[in-house]
Amino acid sequence: VAKDDGRNRFAFYTKEMTRKATLYMERDRDLRRGFDVGELVLHYQPQIDMASGAVLGVEALIRWQHPTAGLLGPDAVIPIAEKSGLIVPIGEWVLREACAQACAWRRAGLPPLRMAVNVSARQMNPDRLPQFLKNLLDETGLPAEQLEIEITESTLQNEDNCLATLLQLKRLGLMVAIDDFGTGYSCMGSLKSLPIDRLKIDRSFIRDIPEDRDSEAIPEAIIAMAHRLNRTVIAEGVETLAQQDFLRSCGCREGQGYLYARPMAAAAVAALLAERFGLAPDLS
Ligand code: C2E
Ligand code: MG
Ligand code: MG
Ligand code: MG
Repeated sequence: VAKDDGRNRFAFYTKEMTRKATLYMERDRDLRRGFDVGELVLHYQPQIDMASGAVLGVEALIRWQHPTAGLLGPDAVIPIAEKSGLIVPIGEWVLREACAQACAWRRAGLPPLRMAVNVSARQMNPDRLPQFLKNLLDETGLPAEQLEIEITESTLQNEDNCLATLLQLKRLGLMVAIDDFGTGYSCMGSLKSLPIDRLKIDRSFIRDIPEDRDSEAIPEAIIAMAHRLNRTVIAEGVETLAQQDFLRSCGCREGQGYLYARPMAAAAVAALLAERFGLAPDLS
């Protein structure tokens, strides 16, 4: 009886594994198709000066306008693309598209906005990414300091090439931010020597403010540390005025979150900025 059980379980596992592998291959194929025919799009979420309400920058966030499933988020794209390596061409498309958009807004007469772009661990290749970005900046004429690369703490820890790549990006004049800061286990001591301009406090630390007083300790400490190390800091996932007020009382200047704006299509960002600045941009 035990033997039968084992065999059945084995049969079950193989079936399950085959099903998963097939599903993954189908999704990968569908993603390659979608990428090729131009179904990937970028939405942009404003980053706000919490004192004045001014828009200081935007973060580019990938979406997939799928023919049958509708508008899909990064979860439908990034994990599959990272597994297959498609993340490298997709990531380069994201950088190209984001830079082109920043340039288009400038041409339309909007004030210069910082453009933040998420970059995966597999893209941090010192023989590829810096040269790619140098060419991109040369071709588009976008000032390097207007482009901010977001990498996560886990990329910083697990990618041997990461530091070499970062140093080259800094040499080009780009800005670098650590995304989802506080969720990995970065060695605090190494922060002071890393070529990082900015910490993005993960939204999990913002969520419980101010219901739970203990939860305020972590964002408060991150903000103080960032300032002591001469780094700037931004809070993600700001949803309420109470959260904004607490963050401001800690000296955090910038925030990003649903309180201000959801990620939106490029045209909606331009409309929002035009309204704020009383401009009538020429978006042709
Ligand atoms: P992230 O870089 O931490 O981006 C912030 C995420 O938080 C976005 O989710 C945004 O929509 C969401 N968010 C912003 N404000 C709020 C808020 O007030 N409340 C809540 N609950 N959520 C908020 P999204 O667009 O689903 O992106 C998820 C993740 O996917 C991103 O997290 C980033 O890690 C990854 N991602 C997105 N685009 C790209 C890309 O082009 N390349 C790579 N490698 N990763 C990307
Ligand atoms: Mg990000
Ligand atoms: Mg983040
Ligand atoms: Mg996050």
